Amino acid sequence: MKKILVNGAGGFIGGHLVKRLKDEGHWVRGVDIKEHEFATPTTDEFILGNLCDPEVTKQAVAGIDDVYQLAADMGGAGYIFTGEHDADVMHNSATINLNTLHFGVAAGVKRFFYSSSACIYPEYNQLDPDNPKCSEESAYPAAPDSEYGWEKLFSERLYGAFMRNHKVPVRVARFHNIFGPQGTWQGGREKSPAALCRKIAETPEGGEIEIWGDGKQTRSFLYIDECVEGVRRLMDSDFTGPVNVGSEEMVTINRLAEIIMEVAGKKVSLKHIPGPLGVRGRNSDNHLIREKLNWSPSKPLIDGVAATYSWISQQVEAARKTAASA
Ligand code: NAD
Repeated sequence: MKKILVNGAGGFIGGHLVKRLKDEGHWVRGVDIKEHEFATPTTDEFILGNLCDPEVTKQAVAGIDDVYQLAADMGGAGYIFTGEHDADVMHNSATINLNTLHFGVAAGVKRFFYSSSACIYPEYNQLDPDNPKCSEESAYPAAPDSEYGWEKLFSERLYGAFMRNHKVPVRVARFHNIFGPQGTWQGGREKSPAALCRKIAETPEGGEIEIWGDGKQTRSFLYIDECVEGVRRLMDSDFTGPVNVGSEEMVTINRLAEIIMEVAGKKVSLKHIPGPLGVRGRNSDNHLIREKLNWSPSKPLIDGVAATYSWISQQVEAARKTAASA
């Protein structure tokens, strides 16, 4: 049993990771600026605090063996690609990483996991929606299409520098569009699978939903359970990374909407409108994870969509009842 800190335990992936670590029998401390909106906390200790504050970070890392650093100022395209939150995203997330490493090493943390992102990959390799290149070594020459991606790349390097100079093991994963139940599904920070599930759940048969862009942009989506599995395998392995943790089942956003409709058992039409988009095409390249961890995600997208749609449609129904009784 280890003493583990999960930064961002009140968030989507952090909440699922805490559950997994508790199921494995570890002692887990969580820290976040907010409590989890959807899950009952399973942490042994939860610090409600801001990791930009050195005192909070010192308290968080005290007595800890392993740190999983998932806290970030982030959201979907509507949050990170509009440009309106760039200063906050860069300042807050970089400060969290600087504090976590500085105070974590001083406190004797034995290993760090860092959650980077596919958003670090250069835009010039992701212009063709049918053939994006996202192999790990293609990150350089660097040209992410968002400040969120630049901060992630800076922080990957920061973890690498601490590993070299302070001899502390680090593990870095580049997540590709993680989705599933108990994630943000409304409010502006939600990502496309959750946003589309919500829109389809809220819209009657034969209605219309809006999609940003022409819907021909491509992505892959990884179900949360496989993300957590990948994180745990990487953390227990000898491989430092960075390594992609994503699905190779690439679909257009229009196709994703169709899959959700199939799962929902209803048909709505798609109205394409201008909106923040990100790169034209993106897919996980899983050669390296297969080689290094002898494992890669395999769950079909539709299975994850079924579980996610079921959860989001329940949230939509509950919100509708609350609104009706108000
Ligand atoms: P999330 O927003 O649900 O979780 C992040 C958590 O960090 C939130 O609960 C937030 O309150 C917390 N946080 C933010 N600022 C903080 C601060 N100053 N102090 C303490 N806590 C703070 O996001 P998620 O989807 O669970 O993502 C987890 C990590 O994985 C993030 O670093 C994110 O950048 C990375 N990532 C996620 C995806 C994805 O598709 N979800 C893809 C690539 C990378």
